[in-house]
Amino acid sequence: MLPDYHMHTFLSDGKDTHEDMVVSAAYKSIPEIGFTDHISVKPVGWAMDISNIPLMVEKVNALKQDEKSPILVKLGGEIDYFPDREKEIAALINSIPFDYTIGSVHFIDDWNFDTDIRPYDQISIDKFYTNYFKLVQQSAKSGLFDAIGHCDLAKKFCYYPSFRLERLYEETAKVFRKSGVVVELNTSGRIKPCAEFYPSAVFLEKLAKYKVPICLGSDAHVEQNIGQFFDEAISELKALGYKEVVKFTKRKREAQRI
Ligand SMILES: [Zn+2]
Ligand SMILES: [Zn+2]
Repeated sequence: MLPDYHMHTFLSDGKDTHEDMVVSAAYKSIPEIGFTDHISVKPVGWAMDISNIPLMVEKVNALKQDEKSPILVKLGGEIDYFPDREKEIAALINSIPFDYTIGSVHFIDDWNFDTDIRPYDQISIDKFYTNYFKLVQQSAKSGLFDAIGHCDLAKKFCYYPSFRLERLYEETAKVFRKSGVVVELNTSGRIKPCAEFYPSAVFLEKLAKYKVPICLGSDAHVEQNIGQFFDEAISELKALGYKEVVKFTKRKREAQRI
């Protein structure tokens, strides 16, 4: 099995403790996990209280130093990207001893399109997609993040634009390549209304074309979902010619063969 680099604990909007997650991963033969609780410079319901950051670091460090731990543990964070707050985000990131950061776009202006479904019926979905991918590209160019989270989240609730998405995928894949970011293959989309991984197979094909490196994440909010659909994700990566996924330590990359 391969490392799972995206999951949440009780410190943000997950349910379980760090220890529970370790036990569950070991049970599933997952050799390494990264904790990525939500961290945001704007107050967001799902993000951890900034005052809990020292507790997060302490909990993850205790597991890292536990010689009896059956698996490797890494400290990551899923950090909300806001284009007008880059300096604050950088300062926050630099104050935390991360192994890696995942940058996620969950907001367009003040609208949290990841959980607030009401506006979808009142807006131009074409414009929504254009704005969403522009923000994702900006998040990659910002240099703040080691990896880009669920990079086609706009499709979560099955609202699709009138135009074909290939051009946006291609343009975004080029930006990822040029910015040198890793992109996560986030398997949690499979249990959302869109019922497919983030990114979609067609988008992932573009990422393969531009040789954008990939890391794997379940986005588990409960221990049961750690490593969900990883077998399928690995097959998909192999079919596209990928031979490795990325692992992180102290914000340095390493390849793991698949
Ligand atoms: Zn997210
Ligand atoms: Zn997440």
